[in-house]
Amino acid sequence: MNKITAENILNDIKTEYVPTPKPELVYNNNFELLCAVMLSAQTTDKRVNIVTKDLFNKYPTPEALAKADVNDVITIIKSLGLSNNKANNIINLSKKLVENFNSIVPNNLDDLTTLPGVGRKTANVVLGLGFNIPSMPVDTHIHRMSIRFKFIKEGESVLVAEEKLKKYIPKERWIEAHHLLLIFGRYYCKSQNPLCKECKLKKYCNKK
Ligand code: SF4
Repeated sequence: MNKITAENILNDIKTEYVPTPKPELVYNNNFELLCAVMLSAQTTDKRVNIVTKDLFNKYPTPEALAKADVNDVITIIKSLGLSNNKANNIINLSKKLVENFNSIVPNNLDDLTTLPGVGRKTANVVLGLGFNIPSMPVDTHIHRMSIRFKFIKEGESVLVAEEKLKKYIPKERWIEAHHLLLIFGRYYCKSQNPLCKECKLKKYCNKK
């Protein structure tokens, strides 16, 4: 990998597949964004968008969600799966936001990752989308893309992927790169049955 190849990959994804890279989650503020990202684990952004509409109508602020009945939240988000864990996490993180952060979502990785259920990937999504701070969240799709496009070797971790993507992609493109790689991985270069036959990025790919 080198910086020119990395930029060419991004440019080709943009030209051929994702002309307007932007998030699929719908949110009105950083609190909604944080909850929506946590709710999106192992489900689709489309499903999350349906559920969050009802959730934030009823519980629009950290104060409101901190006082919510967990069973009511579970009922609202049930269709997303893992609803017990997710409901407890968003209630507990709301409590912590109220108690420790004056109900404001923090704008740095260290504070964000002290919130219940918030890992490095979620925190990086919030930094990039919520605060426009260059960040490189690596989820399962971006990890897979990092391997197929030879940023990292098979078996290397998401942390190594983050480090290598940041090394080869210019900082001013990190947020855009996240959307490009995520959407390309999610809809075209899928884990199972990627659309290789007609793929326009074959020349960069290590998949046999
Ligand atoms: S050739 Fe297949 S595996 Fe490689 S980038 Fe294209 S879709 Fe993905």
